[in-house]
Amino acid sequence: MATNRTFTMLKPDSVEKGNIGAILEKITASGFRIVAMKLTQMTTADAKAFYGIHSERPFFPELVEYMTRGPIVAAILEKENAVEDFRTLIGATNPADAAEGTIRKLFANSISENAVHGSDSDENAAIEGAFHFSGREMF
Ligand code: UDP
Ligand code: MG
Repeated sequence: MATNRTFTMLKPDSVEKGNIGAILEKITASGFRIVAMKLTQMTTADAKAFYGIHSERPFFPELVEYMTRGPIVAAILEKENAVEDFRTLIGATNPADAAEGTIRKLFANSISENAVHGSDSDENAAIEGAFHFSGREMF
């Protein structure tokens, strides 16, 4: 059953470049309601667990280094068809392939430093949201 919720992170490069406000504006203007949100920083153990599915990939050590180097904005978002619509809004993993007007096209540096995370399924949205937020932080 679709839950109409997805999970996002504005990654360290977005925070470093002062893009939090601009990215949140695009997200809310696209019809997503903020259910939960915080500025936080992942530990190495957090990042290894969060991206565990990629642990055998060659880019994994670099990904963990990147995702832990500074604060992120973590958020749960709500909208009809949230997971799919948010993936459309952020664009392809590699900003060079991302459609015009997408968040990654506008704000990402490269395939590794690509500005934002978006869950890839309803199941992972629930797991990832619960990784960062307790029930009493969701509104
Ligand atoms: N990534 C990378 N190199 C790659 C592919 C992915 O550094 O060749 C990083 C990038 O930050 C990406 C994350 O690993 O967002 C997770 O990869 P995934 O394939 O799940 O992409 P996403 O779902 O974020 O589009
Ligand atoms: Mg992914």
